[in-house]
Amino acid sequence: MNNKNIAFEFDPEIDSKLNLKKIVDKDYLKNKKFFNKNISDIKITFLYTRSQMDKICNQKTPNWLVGYTKDKQIYIFSPSVFDKVSNHPATDFSYILTHEIAHIFSNNLLGFYYPKWLHEGIAGYVAEQYKIRKIRKIDKFSKLHDSKNWNKLINYPQAFLFTKYLVNTFGKEKILEFLKQLSKNVGRHHYPKDFFRFFKKFFKIKFNQAVLGWKKTIKIKQC
Ligand SMILES: [Zn+2]
Repeated sequence: MNNKNIAFEFDPEIDSKLNLKKIVDKDYLKNKKFFNKNISDIKITFLYTRSQMDKICNQKTPNWLVGYTKDKQIYIFSPSVFDKVSNHPATDFSYILTHEIAHIFSNNLLGFYYPKWLHEGIAGYVAEQYKIRKIRKIDKFSKLHDSKNWNKLINYPQAFLFTKYLVNTFGKEKILEFLKQLSKNVGRHHYPKDFFRFFKKFFKIKFNQAVLGWKKTIKIKQC
């Protein structure tokens, strides 16, 4: 299994270690398969109340927020309270845990943070969240690039779906190589224009052309 290094923190009166381990192992493996690597020393702390999450994030957190990752530490609501402390159905738990683990893999192996839509998109691709999140609007990618702009629009469905299109179009290995080279060439944090320039150099296609190709493949779900 190779992931014996994952440490757990949980309430033994509410959860069983065996049950949690079963879920964690499965979600870790999805990441190992995608990134073709192991990551050691991951720590997962299961939370049970919204105030615990607020304390960790150092702010009042919205009820859609169910997981938070810093370095190799994940904080996530336990599956036993997941739908009670948030507006997520209980079935979202595994998607979110896989997503949070993917951030650890991506931060350690690829080391890019911008574009934010791609940082979230890769995590959502590994977690297959495009299956459960319907796209309702398309924003300009340059407006989803840095943390400040992303936080205004927060368009996870667009990030998930377009990243899926990129992986399907160029192949997983090429995308992983692109992401590794991205931070080396333009830095972990950079401007949209730097990203567009490097995208064209690497894939030999303009970013806008890729977006046009993607738009032909999707249907916007009206509210
Ligand atoms: Zn995320």
